[in-house]
Amino acid sequence: MKNDKKKYCVKHTSYVITNKKIEEMENDNKITVHFLGAAGTVTGSKYLIDTGERKILIDCGLFQGLKELRLKNWDFLPVDVTEIDTVLLTHGHMDHTGYLPRLVKMGFNGSIQGTAPTLDIAQIILLDSAKIQEEYAEQANKEGFSKHSPAEPLYTIKDAEKAIDHFKPISEGEWITLYPSIKVRFQYNGHIIGATFIELDIYGKRFVFSGDIGRKEDLLMRAPKKPEKADVLFIESTYGDSCLLYTSPSPRDRG
Ligand SMILES: [Zn+2]
Repeated sequence: MKNDKKKYCVKHTSYVITNKKIEEMENDNKITVHFLGAAGTVTGSKYLIDTGERKILIDCGLFQGLKELRLKNWDFLPVDVTEIDTVLLTHGHMDHTGYLPRLVKMGFNGSIQGTAPTLDIAQIILLDSAKIQEEYAEQANKEGFSKHSPAEPLYTIKDAEKAIDHFKPISEGEWITLYPSIKVRFQYNGHIIGATFIELDIYGKRFVFSGDIGRKEDLLMRAPKKPEKADVLFIESTYGDSCLLYTSPSPRDRG
């Protein structure tokens, strides 16, 4: 776990924001951001924002792909999950929501907020994922191909249902006061139904989390809205090195 923390939990303090606010933030309002996933790899998105008074998790994705990455889903997060106040979801894809049952199983007891379509998609995905994991563990026990005896699923359908009980739909495009001095707005960003970028205003500074961004021209989706401003921008860059032509498969088709 210590190695994971080194590799995946990169701390950034408020020094990156602006000179104007450094003094103020160094005193009382220091904000720390932990990258708990999607760092050094493209899945497992989880940003933990620690304001000193509140802990907010943006996305709660599952590591996918190579076995060494999937094994990371079994690690404990390098933070006390019982101290996380709320989870905000940019969209429903597995690499942004698939870890939620584990989070609840480990003691998270706050709300899980996203647009209604995002939560609808997440519900389908989590129940399906839990079913596959239960079946895989059952098969491993029957055929004896796991080195664990008995093989356990990462989470069960019951665990997924418990996570779904924490879902709280929010409106798109409206500022919502989460806590004193912390406001949030979910803004449509294309990609898939219900997908948004998330703007967090904390102590007067704006943090913007892009989520996976859709394209301007799309047969099914409206063009993404644009943030008006950001003091700190966190951007998904999975396809940042690619020039996506309109004739190429859309990112949502590619995962
Ligand atoms: Zn996505």
